[in-house]
Amino acid sequence: MLNWDTMFASRSSLMRASEIRELLKLLDQPDIISFAGGIPDPALFPAEEFQRAYADIFSGAAVNSALQYSVSEGYKPLREWLIGQMGALGIPCGLDNVFIVSGSQQGLDYLGKLFLSPNDTALVTWPTYLGALQAFNAYEPAYDQLTPSGNRTPESYRVAAAAAGGKVKFAYLSADFSNPTGETVDLAGRKRVLALAEELDIAVIEDAAYQSLRYDGEPILPILALEIAEKGHINDTRTIYCGSFSKTLAPGLRVGFIVANAPVIRKLVLMKQAADLHSSTINQMAILDVAVRGFDTQVVKIKAVYSHRRDCMLAALEKYMPKGTSWTKPEGGMFIWITLPEGMDGAKLLAKSLETAKVAFVPGKAFFADGSGANTFRVSFSCANEQMIEDGISRLGRLITDEIGG
Ligand code: PMP
Repeated sequence: MLNWDTMFASRSSLMRASEIRELLKLLDQPDIISFAGGIPDPALFPAEEFQRAYADIFSGAAVNSALQYSVSEGYKPLREWLIGQMGALGIPCGLDNVFIVSGSQQGLDYLGKLFLSPNDTALVTWPTYLGALQAFNAYEPAYDQLTPSGNRTPESYRVAAAAAGGKVKFAYLSADFSNPTGETVDLAGRKRVLALAEELDIAVIEDAAYQSLRYDGEPILPILALEIAEKGHINDTRTIYCGSFSKTLAPGLRVGFIVANAPVIRKLVLMKQAADLHSSTINQMAILDVAVRGFDTQVVKIKAVYSHRRDCMLAALEKYMPKGTSWTKPEGGMFIWITLPEGMDGAKLLAKSLETAKVAFVPGKAFFADGSGANTFRVSFSCANEQMIEDGISRLGRLITDEIGG
């Protein structure tokens, strides 16, 4: 056997197999009720709309450009459509501020590459999106805890980053219905993150993957919108907004976008040229076609389904979870985050659950950059119907009740 580890670059040492990817395999087993995935329900994909969009492309002159190389910044008409969408969110911007990526996950990788030298510090929430940790890990960072509730001084971050051998480079957060907790950062929290970034002179990476999926409560301005309101122009801002079509239209097309100041966008475009030249031309064209014809209708449709499932899951948790457990009450997104009594272990519970209760979820520990959070786990309601939610949560509730009692 070759010892590849001695041949690989040091950056590969932090790259580990994703627990979530492993778990996704369970979705294929018919007797398991899975709340693990957190992927869109395929029944809600606008499949016919895409079929028509691709047919239109292939039946006209557009086919030649659809199958051709295209510009690294992204398909111009799609970027123009996004300018309109961003404007409605309080983010006035121009073509130089909008960049199409092959899924917002690629954007996170590029941002890690752009900002992190080895041992630099990335501020992330505890817990945070596992895919962000995976993207950043390749650049050998240190992590420190971002607390939008604001109990840390800028100086304390500076000192910790210096001790880790670098500087603080950015704060990464999902302000709306985060993965994994489903929680939203309130307006005061968003302002505190901006003020902290200002003090530390670092970038803010605003992951807006779930932003369109608000089921109730009042929308809160994106961090980038707040900063533009303060500074007057997007090119004077430090917030980098990462958006996605994966949760609203279809993840398989791999089309996401970044909206930010022009200097950062110019650098990101260079990264794309080195990595994959440009995002899929034909998929960008199809996304635009479907979005123009009915993005809002599609969002209304999926919100109705997901919000009902969220309600069912919250009701089932209320009914079946024993005392000593607690959970978030998300106003949108796809996730609920459950905290078990101190001392219990989400990973051990999963092992037992797969054996006896036949319910899958994601143990929380992997979402914590410091390896804490053993007594937490994530459930997703996006792909579960009412009956699955009732059955799955009741079985899980019984299992946890037994564990607490025993
Ligand atoms: N950010 C968050 C918070 C996510 O949950 C996901 C998908 N799981 C992504 C980014 C990546 O999405 P995509 O690459 O499909 O745009």
